[in-house]
Amino acid sequence: MSDHSFIPYGKQSLDEEDIQAVVNVLRSDYLTTGPAINQFEEAIAAYVDSKYAVAFSSGTAALHGACFAAGITEGDEVITTPMTFVASSNCVLYQGGTPIFADIDPVTYNINPLEIEKKITNKTKAIIPVDFTGQPCELEEIIEIARRHKLIVIEDAAHALGATYRGQKIGSISDMTMFSFHPVKHITTGEGGVITTNNKVYYEKLLAFRSHGITRDRSQMMDDHGPWYYEMQFLGYNYRMTDIQAALGISQLRKSDQFLERRKEIVEKYNWHFKDIKEVVIPKQSAFVESSWHIYVLRFCSNVLQVSKAKLFNELRNCDIGVNVHYIPVHKQPYYKNLGYNQCNYLEAEHLYEEAITLPLFPSMTDQEVEYIIQTIKRIISTNKRTKVGDEE
Ligand SMILES: *Cc1c(COP(=O)(O)O)cnc(C)c1O
Repeated sequence: MSDHSFIPYGKQSLDEEDIQAVVNVLRSDYLTTGPAINQFEEAIAAYVDSKYAVAFSSGTAALHGACFAAGITEGDEVITTPMTFVASSNCVLYQGGTPIFADIDPVTYNINPLEIEKKITNKTKAIIPVDFTGQPCELEEIIEIARRHKLIVIEDAAHALGATYRGQKIGSISDMTMFSFHPVKHITTGEGGVITTNNKVYYEKLLAFRSHGITRDRSQMMDDHGPWYYEMQFLGYNYRMTDIQAALGISQLRKSDQFLERRKEIVEKYNWHFKDIKEVVIPKQSAFVESSWHIYVLRFCSNVLQVSKAKLFNELRNCDIGVNVHYIPVHKQPYYKNLGYNQCNYLEAEHLYEEAITLPLFPSMTDQEVEYIIQTIKRIISTNKRTKVGDEE
């Protein structure tokens, strides 16, 4: 056992300034749909170099909005990765569409553009690439495929706030990009999400979708009964973010680059210590990208270790290290199995799932905690190596 308290895999960083920002809204006239929402949206758009941003009550609601704005409906197929959180494909189901999974690249763990191409049919409407762990996908290839087949790209960048691809900020490249502000993500609003886009038509659809499909813009109305009049033009939802959350988001966003720096520092330390250990594979960054390091996924090679991943996982948890697993491939979930996805094989995603363990990574981790995790992993690996007979330490 250790003299440490439990170290979670991810955690928010809040300071007095954040708390004050929330308190200020509580003392103001607007708790929701007040001035903080617009300010937060403008700040996010400026941070990721996009024209527009629409805040939502969660990243999942934002993805749902993006699927609506993309016109996804019954009969449409949407290609995404199985190595993601269930929300990336659930949003397609919400719209009555059919998620189609394409396997990952064994090096970057991101969706493999060659596999996307194989899955395209005349029903395909969109691609939802996920920037797994914060590393941007092969966006140039993916967007080229999308243009050739007239598909819409909705990037799930829940892990990738602040990341860049070929020098461009994630959030400015795809047709629509989603960021999440759940407490384990880069910045938090408690719950919350946003879609960024450069497309005015999508922007206006997203705004209305977030609030019941209602418009108050007279130029867009079919009728006019008087100054009280508003129009519900399609079926939307109440997916609004509160001003309490938006104010927290504004305050958090100011610290985003600082958070990123610290994440990178911790990753470099992990990498430096693990890079020469043949029982593990450290995460690899592809050329042209700058990851935002949402999570650190270390791969424990099953062929050179004599214990199961479950045992390694339990040993680490018993040492108060809050390891996690990203992800259980979506098609292996009972709900998806029942939909018929149990017949599919995604070998690279399934292989990663057998070997991947996520180590703690968040800005407020101390150097001592990082060092403790490194030493514990080294010790556990050395006691679980496959050794030749008579070669025991
Ligand atoms: C967190 C996350 C989401 C969902 O975001 P919420 O804000 O929790 O709804 C979607 N996709 C990925 C990859 C995520 O990590």
